[in-house]
Amino acid sequence: MHYFQFHRRELHAEGLPISRLAKAVGTPVYLYSHQTLVRHFNAFDRAFSALPHLTCYSVKANSNLALLRIFSRLGGGFDIVSGGELFRVLRAGADPRRIVFSGVGKTEAEIEAALRAGILLLNVESIPELELLSRVARRLKLRARISFRLNPDINPRSHPYLTTGTPENKFGIDIKEALSVYRRAARLPYVEPAGIDCHIGSQITSIRPFVAVLKKLKNLVSRLQRMGICISYLDLGGGLGITYRDESPPHPDEYARAVGKELRGFSGSQSPGGITLILEPGRVIVGNAGILVARVLYSKKVGRKEFVITDAGMNDLIRPALYDSYHEIIPVRPRGGPRKKVDVVGPICESGDFLARDRKLPPLKAGDLIAIMGAGAYGFSMSSNYNSRPRAAEVLVRGNRFTVIRRREIPADLVRGEVIPRGLDP
Ligand SMILES: *Cc1c(COP(=O)(O)O)cnc(C)c1O
Repeated sequence: MHYFQFHRRELHAEGLPISRLAKAVGTPVYLYSHQTLVRHFNAFDRAFSALPHLTCYSVKANSNLALLRIFSRLGGGFDIVSGGELFRVLRAGADPRRIVFSGVGKTEAEIEAALRAGILLLNVESIPELELLSRVARRLKLRARISFRLNPDINPRSHPYLTTGTPENKFGIDIKEALSVYRRAARLPYVEPAGIDCHIGSQITSIRPFVAVLKKLKNLVSRLQRMGICISYLDLGGGLGITYRDESPPHPDEYARAVGKELRGFSGSQSPGGITLILEPGRVIVGNAGILVARVLYSKKVGRKEFVITDAGMNDLIRPALYDSYHEIIPVRPRGGPRKKVDVVGPICESGDFLARDRKLPPLKAGDLIAIMGAGAYGFSMSSNYNSRPRAAEVLVRGNRFTVIRRREIPADLVRGEVIPRGLDP
């Protein structure tokens, strides 16, 4: 459910005609619906209201400060994967006690910044990382609360690039080694193993793998308890899928019910506050709350193939090129006439630069606007300057008002920080 709908034969973002926005801000532009963002966050968070829980929005899905502020105001925490994301969430006003830090390659500087900020948990993904963390914590005389991110060997059967919880993936610690790593961590004076963590992948469209993970984690929590290690946080990661085309992912309510059922009567931990569930949703919150609007530059025929060339390319939205993913494409003001099979492509010098292939679309002419739907997650946050293209603007729509929440880059942004060495006079 989202608030990009047709009124009087034009696609609107909430109360605003998209052609008006495009005229004011230019294209390509990412549009986010405030009402949709709030609705999705609340739908997810409230689904778990019967359980002590913390919804830590996964920042990498879309890291614009305005969105982070919205989720923070709604009571959300954050799942970060870099020092840059830590900087962002603190800048957005996040409560450090609601931040968890995931990632296989945290640097010493990132670990130090996280400890100084006083975040809730670092999700440790290897023994060498544990050792580095222990040294940093000792040097700073700060106690580090950690979870271990475990690799449970469960394949959620989404795209291979979106699978993170099998032994072929680089993520986490083999679940078979879990007891020994916790034992090791418990002996470190500045380390407090307080949580257990998993993240098995993304765009998961079934409850089953989540329940399978939870069963394994429950079992471990009980065994750790018997070893005298008290787990207060159980982190199930993110990964709940959305509808891009014809997928029917479970509603958060269904997910929460399955989790609640599995946790009913579970007293695996004698932690005074009981166990707090941590969830790290990204895509399911922002995915369908954002669209990418582009303008058709040209259409042409090469051999028997028809191409529609737009001013948005793979640098703006890489998902089709990277994952062969499907995004619905809708003309903002559809023309009458027969639908035709076309490739919708960008201006970049790569054959992988497409937004859709062999897609049946109504007639499109130069100057027409198209909306690339479901672009709120892993859209702008994965965009780049490839081909020296300034990155798109981002706009937040609220009713019939809008705010540019990231201005379109200008050519000077493209060379910021670059230096031509002395002696290379023109
Ligand atoms: C990417 C990621 C998430 C969010 O995944 P979604 O599929 O967007 O929900 C959560 N946790 C971790 C550790 C991640 O890497």
